[in-house]
Amino acid sequence: MSEEKSLNFIEEIIEEDLRKGNYKEIVTRFPPEPNGYLHLGHASSICLNFGLTKKYPGYTNLRFDDTNPTTEETEYVDSIKEDVKWLGFEWKNERYASDYFDTMYDYAVSLIKKGLAYVDDSTSEEIAAMKGTPTEHGKESSYRNRSIEENLDLFDQMKQGAFPDGSRTLRAKIDMAHVNMLMRDPVLYRIKHAHHHRTGDKWCIYPMYDMAHGQSDSIEQVTHSICTLEFVPHRELYDWLIEKLEIYPSHQYEFARRNINYTVTSKRKLLQLVNERYVTSWDDPRMPTISGLRRRGYTPESIRDFCDRIGVAKRENMVDVGLLEFCVREHLNKIALRRMVVFDPVKIIITDYPEGQLEMVPSEDNPEDENKTYRDIPFSREIYIEREDFMEDPPKKFFRLAPGQMVRLKSAYVIKCDEVIKDDLGNIIALHCTHIPNSKTGEANANIKVKGTLHWVSILHAVPVEIRLYDRLFKVEDPSSEEGDFKEYINPDSLQIIKTAYAEPALKTSKFNDRYQFLRKGYFMLDKDTSEEGLIFNRTVTLKDTWAKESKKD
Ligand code: ATP
Ligand code: MG
Repeated sequence: MSEEKSLNFIEEIIEEDLRKGNYKEIVTRFPPEPNGYLHLGHASSICLNFGLTKKYPGYTNLRFDDTNPTTEETEYVDSIKEDVKWLGFEWKNERYASDYFDTMYDYAVSLIKKGLAYVDDSTSEEIAAMKGTPTEHGKESSYRNRSIEENLDLFDQMKQGAFPDGSRTLRAKIDMAHVNMLMRDPVLYRIKHAHHHRTGDKWCIYPMYDMAHGQSDSIEQVTHSICTLEFVPHRELYDWLIEKLEIYPSHQYEFARRNINYTVTSKRKLLQLVNERYVTSWDDPRMPTISGLRRRGYTPESIRDFCDRIGVAKRENMVDVGLLEFCVREHLNKIALRRMVVFDPVKIIITDYPEGQLEMVPSEDNPEDENKTYRDIPFSREIYIEREDFMEDPPKKFFRLAPGQMVRLKSAYVIKCDEVIKDDLGNIIALHCTHIPNSKTGEANANIKVKGTLHWVSILHAVPVEIRLYDRLFKVEDPSSEEGDFKEYINPDSLQIIKTAYAEPALKTSKFNDRYQFLRKGYFMLDKDTSEEGLIFNRTVTLKDTWAKESKKD
């Protein structure tokens, strides 16, 4: 039996094309509009487009679809390039739809000359009103039958800046009774006196999506132009324009947009979250943006794995964020350095351990790693353990520390709790314990049976650090489909900050991009807010799927 993964429908099309000799190599493009930061939905499109040309001969271009000057910015261009590179992909050419504005203008002129486009003086409201409905034909504009000469002259004047915004458009002359509403004389150019982030003030007319996208594909000789399903009705116009312009025949293929639950994947909505301060920035670790995930500690490998597992579909569906978390756990388990950090400390005094004595106990960096490496952890008489790891009056199945009960301190001794020390109000201030000599790994008493193993830090050597724990940004699976504004469904507890946790000293030299597993706490990475004042760690993900457990409890 073959273990090969079955082909997705786009791969099938490409293999068929290659077999028939339609192409020697294939060309794809990833075409973001630089009006926001990339999110997980884009990651899926990036992995698909670049993945195809990794698998088959050919290449992928990065093309900025920058035909909308008012919403586009260089900051977004830079972030998009950084994100694509970080995901691990290399584009052959960096292109901009705006590189082709001259060519597109010439294309428009040639349509006019063929009698296939006209200048319409109607307002956008009037054009919309004349569009008709799916069951009713549209009405022809009274400007539709202008002469070619008049159209050429007016279009030239549009370009020269003779007319105000919105006063005229260039429309394709197709068929106002067409069953596909998009074919009812679609607008190709509009007037917009706006500064463009690349072409400056050269243009005051800009091509519409349909007049720019397919034309850019064709200029770049893109063989397979992949977009999301909402563009299915545009395909007919895409093909019509290529045919009438007699230019290189790129072909459009559509796949299902990827939506992830408990978040939103729409730049417009994400921009609202940033502008209205629901999150701190585009790269807030709660954001489903590539930059947010990167800052949170996700690896490119885990995101690629996720995109690979969800694959390419023809029908829209909601993808469970649990799968993304599964993918990152899988990867981090392999690469993360194990470290100990106590979030909410209770002090232990090991009364039979000499004051001032210090031992360095070796502990494995990562049991999953074949190259065994160790760091030395200082052990001394006074240590912190997690407050929740002690119970004075525990239930039967409490496998942690309790009076008279023994536990192992990870990589160090077995200890037994003898006495609970309290203040006047009855709050526990310390636990007095004794240790079993020679109970460390490899020593004579190493095999003593204990109920549990706890993480700990030596108080004298502990490094105070800040911990940021994240939860889902939204309380409901699909905030966009709920009644009212999607922002009403924001989870108010999506960020929890622990100002002072206590870390073992090895973390003092933490480096950005090093991944850690804090024992029993999850996977963590240093946050960029880290400064001289202290280390700040983001929790990337918990060790287990806590949500799955909770839903089973119901
Ligand atoms: P948004 O609604 O977030 O602005 P968009 O489709 O307008 O998304 P573009 O910058 O135009 O964003 O998209 C670049 C490419 O990424 C397009 O080919 C688009 O189809 C694809 N893409 C965007 N969002 C998704 C998604 N959720 N799933 C799959 N592909 C997507
Ligand atoms: Mg878009």
